[in-house]
Amino acid sequence: MALTPWRDTSLVFGKPDLRREDYDEVIACLDSRWIGTGPRVARFEQAFRSYVGAPAVVAVNSGSAALQLAVKVLGFEPGSEIITSTMTFCATANAIVHAGCVPVFVDCERDTMNLDVAAAARCITPRTRAILPVHFAGRPCDMGAIMALARAHNLAVIEDCAHAIEATIDGRHCGTLGDFGCFSFYATKNITTVEGGMVTCRDQALADRIAVLALHGMSKDARYRYSDDGFVHYDLYEPGFKHNLTDLAAALGLHQLERIDESWKRRHVLWEYYRAELSDLPLILPLPTPGNIRHALHLFTCLVDDRETRITRDEVLRGLHRLRIGCGVHYRAVHLLDYYRRTFPDAGPFPNADYISERTFSIPLSPAVSDQDASDVVRALREVLG
Ligand SMILES: *Cc1c(COP(=O)(O)O)cnc(C)c1O
Repeated sequence: MALTPWRDTSLVFGKPDLRREDYDEVIACLDSRWIGTGPRVARFEQAFRSYVGAPAVVAVNSGSAALQLAVKVLGFEPGSEIITSTMTFCATANAIVHAGCVPVFVDCERDTMNLDVAAAARCITPRTRAILPVHFAGRPCDMGAIMALARAHNLAVIEDCAHAIEATIDGRHCGTLGDFGCFSFYATKNITTVEGGMVTCRDQALADRIAVLALHGMSKDARYRYSDDGFVHYDLYEPGFKHNLTDLAAALGLHQLERIDESWKRRHVLWEYYRAELSDLPLILPLPTPGNIRHALHLFTCLVDDRETRITRDEVLRGLHRLRIGCGVHYRAVHLLDYYRRTFPDAGPFPNADYISERTFSIPLSPAVSDQDASDVVRALREVLG
């Protein structure tokens, strides 16, 4: 069937919801001439720390940096194994590799798309040092089971919270349940600083070590070495990274963080609308959420149900593109990507991740999606799958 576009403009996937107050804060930051790491980063850290209820936090310049620093600060000997889900973004696995460790991939559950904890338990060896679960799409992992497994084997737990800023289990935020939480403020995430991230951890001493590693490994107060208190000499303890967040980036995030619950509520309206309007299409929609967890509603993932249609996922992607509806693929599993396939040819089998990789696509869910946009998404899916 020939698809005829009707929208004048493309609906961009993951469009950020930026407002006057965000622009004004960015301008105020520029006007202040303090654009690097400084007072706005400190405010953003403080606000984020109190939002998630973490003992300590460090702002960094990406979610990938957050993951790299969390793995690095643990100081594992080279070749240590870290168990993670293959159903994630490549950055999760890359962080493990960059620290000289070995990613041990585990399948996800078919319905939650989160780490299969029983499969993780079967992968533990004498070299296992940590588990790195991903709260996929914003749905919290089974942290009770993960923490019990970690405690039984003396493993660290690093939570990949890139999708999960608002996610809670029994009222406690993801990122405060394991040893570290790693958040992302990439352009498409629930809050954006264009590029940015945050590490949460159990105490200030650990946060201080991460902050040092994030700024070349220079002594702690080097962040403020150009302040009007006069130049401060620094020392170098170990070769670190350039992973610090800037005030200009933090300026963009400050008011989005204040609006975070309002944005979540808007996504919740869209979420319920999609669930209702798409229920009769040959799609497998996200699972309902149990009452004790709060889903961060980062991604609305649909699986093309090939028991009911012969249209493939890639045909759906092409059709939506033709109708000017932006969409994403979260994800083709990491073990299927060239580097990881070559480097870990014996990993697997991962039937659930393979199943999802072939069928998944995500539709626009940002608070910048209007009612008209959402109805266009539904209409487009009806035309493509009809
Ligand atoms: C976005 C993302 C990251 C990386 O965050 P960046 O800020 O883009 O570096 C890591 N893990 C997952 C699951 C992500 O979605």
